[in-house]
Amino acid sequence: MIIPFDNTYARLPERFFARQNPAQVPAPQLIRVNDSLAAELGLDVEWLRSPDGLRMLSGNCPPRGSEPIAQAYAGHQFGGWVPQLGDGRAILLGEVVDKKGVRRDIQLKGAGRTPFSRGGDGKAALGPVLREYLVSEAMYALGVPTTRALAAVATGETVARERGLPGGIFTRVAASHIRVGTFQFFAARNDLDALRSLTEHAISRHYPAAADSPNPILAFLQSVIATQARLIAKWLQLGFIHGVMNTDNMAVSGETIDFGPCAFMDAFHPQCVFSSIDQRGRYAWGNQPSIGDWNLTRLAETLLPLIADSQDDSRVLAEAALDQFGHAFQSHYRTGFRGKLGIPEAVADAEAAAFIDRTLSMMARDEMDFTLFFRRLTRLASGADASAFEILFPDRSVCSQWLGEWRAIAAPVAVDAMLAGNPVIIPRNHRVEEAIRHAYAGDFAPFHRLADVLARPFEESSESREYERAPEPHEVVHETFCGT
Ligand code: AMP
Ligand code: MG
Repeated sequence: MIIPFDNTYARLPERFFARQNPAQVPAPQLIRVNDSLAAELGLDVEWLRSPDGLRMLSGNCPPRGSEPIAQAYAGHQFGGWVPQLGDGRAILLGEVVDKKGVRRDIQLKGAGRTPFSRGGDGKAALGPVLREYLVSEAMYALGVPTTRALAAVATGETVARERGLPGGIFTRVAASHIRVGTFQFFAARNDLDALRSLTEHAISRHYPAAADSPNPILAFLQSVIATQARLIAKWLQLGFIHGVMNTDNMAVSGETIDFGPCAFMDAFHPQCVFSSIDQRGRYAWGNQPSIGDWNLTRLAETLLPLIADSQDDSRVLAEAALDQFGHAFQSHYRTGFRGKLGIPEAVADAEAAAFIDRTLSMMARDEMDFTLFFRRLTRLASGADASAFEILFPDRSVCSQWLGEWRAIAAPVAVDAMLAGNPVIIPRNHRVEEAIRHAYAGDFAPFHRLADVLARPFEESSESREYERAPEPHEVVHETFCGT
């Protein structure tokens, strides 16, 4: 098949990227192709599954029309400035315009060294490939803006990590791979021409309406702030912890990107962290809004020379835009948790907010399972008896008191909002780890089963029951690793 590539990033000035072909791999094997995403992109699924398709997905033969590049970017990692990062293990094949007219990047992750690889090997181990596949597709099914998984392949190579592991390549589809760190890369070099081109490019791809505003650059900043406020509120509502919210891992499109040591919480605690590299808890569940704000402030700084003629005017406008983040986040957060608790619209915001806070404090104190709490409450609201909900509480009297308060505030209960906001299935860590463990032993069946179940997270079925369960004490995963 001829893929109708229509590449625009590769038309930007040469200093935006390095041209780089993917590495050859010895024995590629297809693990999974995402049929519905392939159809969205107008790609022929049968072709993707064919030997020629595998040659593309493994990097062995970039298809006609692709222009493989590694993108340049910089970033703050855990608050520390790194002037040059860039795609060290990812290669952008090109862009296609999907069936809805949206331009999408097709990128191979783990496709070999690039000029940005520094000391790294440019490769990915199979585990992180499968993890990104499962978690990004779960996010999509849960209704969260996210990059997507088109395919996962095994390369037949062994990659050197703490131990030798089978290698893999992940094909990622994104609205774009432009990060806050991409802006920082050029700002740090005082390259105003590049910043202008990058902003124009990002506006035309993600926020075309900003182009018609009297101040398109400011409108762009405001748009990124708005989409990030919405995105991070969604993460919090699902108990999701990104794990590495460095500025190079924040996409200006508003999609969740770079699923490394991310995780969904089982037992709720606002200071919950999984990432083995986040020792101080910088990116804990409850810190994500303030880190989002911090990252957006770094983006705003890069745009100061472009927003107005004087730095002072720019600063005033940028600060006003940044002030909106907190308001927007709070509003999405409140709306989301009101829905999760079925609190009807007639209840005043302040009253709802206080009840949400009290509820989360109680859940944290008793380390209740985040997903089960809301889903069992949803079942109760739909007519089930209270027993399954009650057993989440170590103390029955706390449960009846809380239920009394809830019934008082959430009457008549907005059951539809609860059903829409409280999934049955999330990618629980012990399930993801189990799928990876079996895959390393050559058995991909648990991975496929999990991927299938995660595609329908709001459905109750006999199959979903088993995946809904919280981990037993011996199954709890405490740490997740980057380790690609
Ligand atoms: P991350 O924290 O995973 O978003 O990656 C941070 C930076 O490290 C990016 O510039 C990556 O391209 C680079 N990187 C991560 N793993 C590798 C690897 N195995 N080889 C080369 N570069 C890598
Ligand atoms: Mg990254």
